[in-house]
Amino acid sequence: MPDFSIGVDLGGTNLRIAAVTTDGQMLEKITLGVKVALGRDYVIGEMCDAIHHLTDKYRATGKFIGAGIGVPGIIDMETGMMRKSANLPGWSDYPVRDEIERRLGARVFLDNDAKVAALGEQWLGAGRGIDNMVMITLGTGIGGAIVLNGKIFYGMNGMAGEFGHVTIEPNGVPCGCGNHGCAERYASATAIVRMAREAIESGSAPALAELASSGAEFSAQSIYNLAIQGNEDAQRIFNRFGQVLGILLAGLINVLNLEMFVIGGGVVSAWDAFAPAMFAELRERSLIYAATAPEDPVGKKEGASAQIANYTRKKTIITRALLGSDAGLYGAARLPAS
Ligand SMILES: [Zn+2]
Repeated sequence: MPDFSIGVDLGGTNLRIAAVTTDGQMLEKITLGVKVALGRDYVIGEMCDAIHHLTDKYRATGKFIGAGIGVPGIIDMETGMMRKSANLPGWSDYPVRDEIERRLGARVFLDNDAKVAALGEQWLGAGRGIDNMVMITLGTGIGGAIVLNGKIFYGMNGMAGEFGHVTIEPNGVPCGCGNHGCAERYASATAIVRMAREAIESGSAPALAELASSGAEFSAQSIYNLAIQGNEDAQRIFNRFGQVLGILLAGLINVLNLEMFVIGGGVVSAWDAFAPAMFAELRERSLIYAATAPEDPVGKKEGASAQIANYTRKKTIITRALLGSDAGLYGAARLPAS
């Protein structure tokens, strides 16, 4: 039996804990609701109880090598403290890693949730066997990570990969980060709902107005359902979403020229609605993508793609993530071993 580690995904609504062997086999997964309102100490107590339960259970079959925890927020990698987390109020400037290490008596690694999801996809998902890749996570905002030579690229202080706050529109919608026109203001679940409400207010989207006033849930999912049923007002929103994601990806491809770009997070389930606009934008804006795209499904040669012939056999792969919400668990479990 191989050694094992514990992966923890601490989200705003769920706390999930898994025992994973060093060769990537999930032994057991525990899902607990996070009662954030009961406070940090309560949540950490629940987490440590579950970790103890799993390590006691599997210690006889393999050595426990440590725990990795993915958290929704900005981490100070040196001190293991959470700098800022919108979903976990009261956790800022608290020595999360040291406190959990003290309670477990084991090595603990803390990292941002989007970064551990990328590590999971690179280890066992879409990026398996790929050393260099980017992952973009589409959720309430946009998360991201750059993996180079099989390791997360952190930048100077762990903040590399904040793709969600790259400027797309110089005079665009204000963002919580203080900037205007950030990518995540147009390509996230929150953005889909905002753009739909704006379309309703302008009086140009009767089907969306009907959905909003029907009493049914008005969410990215229900707007997506309208789009795939052929409603043009809803489709326009996903076209805008795809366009912005394409602009963001074109920039990343031009800067990094990596072999794979993985798109994950809950909103990736709307792929059918936004991907055509995304790929069209990529071909317009990135000469590197135009030169390295696997094929040309649209059949058009415009923009950057007209400027350059196919001169390389290596391709830029843009693909959906494979592991869903388990990516974060696998990636967190990978931290003690990597
Ligand atoms: Zn921003």
